[in-house]
Amino acid sequence: MGARKGSQYLETLDRQPREIWIGGEKITSGVSKHPAFRAMAKSMAFLYDMQHDPEIAEEMTYVSPTSGERVGMSFLQPKTVEDLIKRRKMMQHWANYSGGMLGRTPDYLNSDLMALAAAHEFFGRPDKRFGENIKNYYEYIRENDLLLTHTLIHPQANRSVGPSKQADPFLAARVVDKNDEGVTIRGARMLATLPLADEIMVFPSTVIKGTRDDMPYAFAIAIPTSMKGLKFICRESFAEESKFDHPLASRFDEQDAVVIFEDVVVPWDRVFLLEDVEAANTLQEVTSGIVFMTQQVLVKNIAKTEFVLGVVCLIAETIGINEFQHVQEKIAKVIMLLESMRAFQRAGEVDASPNRWGIMTPDFKPLNAARNLYPRVFPMLRTIIQQLSASGLMALPTEETMKNGEIRPDIDMYYQAKNTSAEERIRLFRLAWDIAGSAFGSRQELYERFFFGDPVRMASALYNWYDKEPYKERVREFLRRLD
Ligand SMILES: Cc1cc2nc3c(=O)[nH]c(=O)nc-3n(C[C@H](O)[C@H](O)[C@H](O)COP(=O)(O)OP(=O)(O)OC[C@H]3O[C@@H](n4cnc5c(N)ncnc54)[C@H](O)[C@@H]3O)c2cc1C
Repeated sequence: MGARKGSQYLETLDRQPREIWIGGEKITSGVSKHPAFRAMAKSMAFLYDMQHDPEIAEEMTYVSPTSGERVGMSFLQPKTVEDLIKRRKMMQHWANYSGGMLGRTPDYLNSDLMALAAAHEFFGRPDKRFGENIKNYYEYIRENDLLLTHTLIHPQANRSVGPSKQADPFLAARVVDKNDEGVTIRGARMLATLPLADEIMVFPSTVIKGTRDDMPYAFAIAIPTSMKGLKFICRESFAEESKFDHPLASRFDEQDAVVIFEDVVVPWDRVFLLEDVEAANTLQEVTSGIVFMTQQVLVKNIAKTEFVLGVVCLIAETIGINEFQHVQEKIAKVIMLLESMRAFQRAGEVDASPNRWGIMTPDFKPLNAARNLYPRVFPMLRTIIQQLSASGLMALPTEETMKNGEIRPDIDMYYQAKNTSAEERIRLFRLAWDIAGSAFGSRQELYERFFFGDPVRMASALYNWYDKEPYKERVREFLRRLD
């Protein structure tokens, strides 16, 4: 099939029954038409259609080594730095479409899967079939251009103990049975962004390490989201109808769900790692999966920072505050962040080298620093929008009020700005509110803080992984110097 069109994605979404719970309702079919999901499904369809836009199709796709069809560029297993740049350019097209507000554009997990498949020998060590499985799965997803989500974390019941020590051994998803048919999984995982995906990867955490007791919880599998026994319990929807009122929430509510496995039987060809705590603990690092996910995340973060920079500059000019020094200083902070992220990205590419599985891999040092820095600084971007906008974020009549002829002349008069009409100003500030204030905007902050893992444990992992010895030795040498 090769790179899908939007209509093909929507058709698959509606054809595959699944169990999604939202707002007290159980949805099993027609997901793409449901008010909570239809806007997001349409946005996702647009992303897929971009792969066929004649102006960028060459950048979005490449020729599959097996089928000869054009397939998504994020599946490319890079052999050179030029390949890495091709991957990055493709990702930029998708990230810019949403101003970086979408976390689960398909390239995020395509990148992970691409790296996992290149490292198939890692999976094949205990059992050759697992290595074949990950390779075949990658090719299946690539050739059919299927959309992936993932879930890595055990339920947040009692964090002072691991999954095996919870009040109920079946709280966290675990292996309950193995037979000729496959592996049976029971329990829950959190969180899975984008229940509108075709498939879900259920993998070990990138940060949290298991112990010997956690063997039944240590596995890596992937299954269709329509699999019997799989349930998604969604948070409330932030999807809004009016594009005027909520320019982002009306398009990009990806949704987040807790996933329940009610004795889901995973066929053997979808099992990549089983009851192997040591392999689970090292999987993302050894395979370089984490590096390629970070490459994608950095592209998204740059797109997001660029978008926010545009918003704050327009706000400042619109209400005539751009000449004030503290305003310029705040906008300069956004520029500093943007240029730092770009520098991290470039350093990752320039110092790339082949990993042990033979694919060209960005240098993880700058990328790891970037992925640890962004959760700490993204909240600052929302704060700056609030500081510059002040009450402008509350002077926001809705689309309905704007349409009312009786009050509209007052709005046109009293909401005008230095260099824009009232309507233009309201549109801009509504966008700012959707980043800095609304439920959608608050979720963006929580997402950036946590989606890649607990920032505290990520920083600890960075500390333990980073080679600090040369710097310690430099100081020791300095202290030894007598002159
Ligand atoms: C919007 C959003 C979308 C997400 N999407 C996905 C997704 O698609 N797929 C996915 O797999 N995950 C997803 N996640 C989940 C993400 O992986 C987790 O939020 C992250 O790993 C942290 O885990 P937690 O939320 O369970 O927090 P917890 O681990 O419960 O942490 C809560 C607090 O306790 C502290 N804490 C807990 N345990 C320890 C410890 N041992 N040592 C030190 N401090 C500790 C943490 O620092 C934190 O302050 C998403 C999260 C969010 C917010």
